[in-house]
Amino acid sequence: MIHAGVYYAPDSLKARFCKEGAAATLAFCREHDLPWQQCGKLLVASDAQELQRMHALFERCGQNGIAAELLDEAALHTREPDIVGRGAIYVAATGMTDYAAITRKLLELFRAAGGELRTDTEVCGIVERGDSVYVRTTDSEFRGRYLLACAGAMSDRIAHMQICRSIFASCRFAANIFG
Ligand SMILES: Cc1cc2nc3c(=O)[nH]c(=O)nc-3n(C[C@H](O)[C@H](O)[C@H](O)COP(=O)(O)OP(=O)(O)OC[C@H]3O[C@@H](n4cnc5c(N)ncnc54)[C@H](O)[C@@H]3O)c2cc1C
Repeated sequence: MIHAGVYYAPDSLKARFCKEGAAATLAFCREHDLPWQQCGKLLVASDAQELQRMHALFERCGQNGIAAELLDEAALHTREPDIVGRGAIYVAATGMTDYAAITRKLLELFRAAGGELRTDTEVCGIVERGDSVYVRTTDSEFRGRYLLACAGAMSDRIAHMQICRSIFASCRFAANIFG
C-alpha cells in the first residue's frame, strides 16, 4: 500500500517522509513501467468509539494537507454496499503497487551500477579503522569506504555493533583488524 500519511503527527518527519515517499514511489513506478494504482482508501469506523477516533483522524488529515472526505453510514453504504460501518473517511491519495516488482527493479539498477547482492548472510561485526569500514558476516568479510545500514527494526543493533569495540576485541575478526 502506498500510504498517504493520515496517521502521523503534523509537521513530524514521518508525516513529511510519507508524503515525499508516496510521490517518489509513484514517480519510480511511472519511470520504470511498474504497476501502481491510486485507488484511494476507506478508513471505516465500525462502532461508536471508532467513530469518535475517526473524527480525530479526519482533522489530522486536514492538518497534514491530505484531501479526505467524511462519509456517514448511508454514504458509506452507497459507495461500498458490501462494507458495514458507522461511517468512514475516504482518502483519495492512497495507492497500491507491487513492492516485490519495485525491489526487483532496484536490484537490477544496483547490479547495473556494479553492486552485488548477498542473501542468507548475517552481519555480526563492524569495525571502523582509518578510512575503511570492515564488516563481518556469518560467511564472509567485506571492506568498504562507507557503510549504509538499512536493517529496519534491527538498525539499533547494527549501530551498537559499530560502537561496542570492546565486544569485538574477543573475536578473531576484530583481533585481525586491530592487530
Ligand atoms: C505487516 C506489515 C505490513 C506493512 N504494510 C505496509 C504497507 O502496506 N505499506 C508501507 O509503506 N509499509 C508497510 N509496512 C511497513 C514497511 O514494511 C516498513 O516500513 C519497511 O519494510 C521498512 O523498510 P526497511 O528497509 O527500513 O527495513 P526492513 O524492510 O525491515 O529491512 C531490514 C532488513 O535488514 C535485515 N537485517 C536485520 N539485521 C540484519 C543483520 N544483522 N544482518 C543482515 N541483515 C539484517 C532484515 O532481515 C531485513 O531484510 C508494513 C509492515 C508490516 C510489519
